[in-house]
Amino acid sequence: MNYSSFIPPQRTLMGPGPSDVSARVLSALARPTIGHLDPKFVTMMDEVKALLQYAFQTKNPYTIALSAPGSAGMEACFVNLVTPQDTVVVCRNGVFGARMIENVERIGAKLVVVDSPWGRAVEPQQLEDALKANPDASVVAFVHAETSTGARSDAKTLCEIAAKHDCLTIVDAVTSLGGSELKVDEWGIDAIYSGSQKCLSCVPGISPISFSEKAVEKLKGRTDKIQSWFLDQSLVMGYWSGDGKRAYHHTAPVNSLYALHESLVMLHEEGIENSWQRHHNMHNKLAEGLAALDIEFIVPENERLAQLNTIKIPAGLDDAKVRSFLLNEFNLEIGAGLGQFAGEAWRIGLMGFAARQENVTLCLAALEQAIAKCK
Ligand SMILES: *Cc1c(COP(=O)(O)O)cnc(C)c1O
Repeated sequence: MNYSSFIPPQRTLMGPGPSDVSARVLSALARPTIGHLDPKFVTMMDEVKALLQYAFQTKNPYTIALSAPGSAGMEACFVNLVTPQDTVVVCRNGVFGARMIENVERIGAKLVVVDSPWGRAVEPQQLEDALKANPDASVVAFVHAETSTGARSDAKTLCEIAAKHDCLTIVDAVTSLGGSELKVDEWGIDAIYSGSQKCLSCVPGISPISFSEKAVEKLKGRTDKIQSWFLDQSLVMGYWSGDGKRAYHHTAPVNSLYALHESLVMLHEEGIENSWQRHHNMHNKLAEGLAALDIEFIVPENERLAQLNTIKIPAGLDDAKVRSFLLNEFNLEIGAGLGQFAGEAWRIGLMGFAARQENVTLCLAALEQAIAKCK
């Protein structure tokens, strides 16, 4: 066997993630690898923390980048902040809410599920009712931006309800961070996790997380052992904080963190509100073009995510054929339907660096041709 270098094709990524990574972020990745306890690297880690605080709009001192994908961020929040004695209310309106349930079940805590229809936001009144019916509830968890359906839930209102019932909140912001309005401190979110490869447009494999003081207190007060050694944040804390004397826990993905740093610097240069607005503007342009093609959205207008557009596959079109036509003829990736929407929907991502006019134009032109050719 003769092996040679892998040269990937140049795609335009407009699916549910990873999103397009800019040349600027890719070049940061190629800088020289240095030691993960090198003082220069530690200084950069501190900047990553400060930039993540900005992105999350929080002053939480415990705001770091986990060396693992978004799914590990989810698991870190649950294993650290949910004990087997807790009662957890999980709001489910898609695939990722279902994964939260899986986490609670594995911990062995008492589970209360609030189901909302796929393609819709979580219904706040249903959460309120569930909390009234379960006065022992101590944690509320929900997904801000459901990437499986394209629905955006009202995180501010859901957190207000949780606070009224004295519950800690765990929020999935994997797809919302950088793409939708998100204010961790103002909204009273206790634990939040995200991913590097969605609206931050960095390479996959890193999960930004942030814990409020209340969350850190709960973690520090635990007398039992956290079930995951790698994700035990009481150990990881010593690696990401402490003046000058960082304790080795694991080796950080050094170059990936250069890339995350660069993508956060870009977000900071643009301004977080401007980034939210850009996603919104590009969504409007895409929606206009889709309407002209007679393509319908699945999610009602006021519950739609700008960065993840779930649309009905027009009747008579072959789902797989269209997606491979887009990939082969235009180097364009869009997402297939997931779960209940498999075979019925496409998911068009406008995440981070992909939320640009040229991508919208390419996607609409490519779809128009695909519709003509893939009947
Ligand atoms: C992508 C995604 C995840 C999982 O992130 P990975 O980096 O793929 O592990 C979790 N939640 C939501 C809402 C997502 O979109």
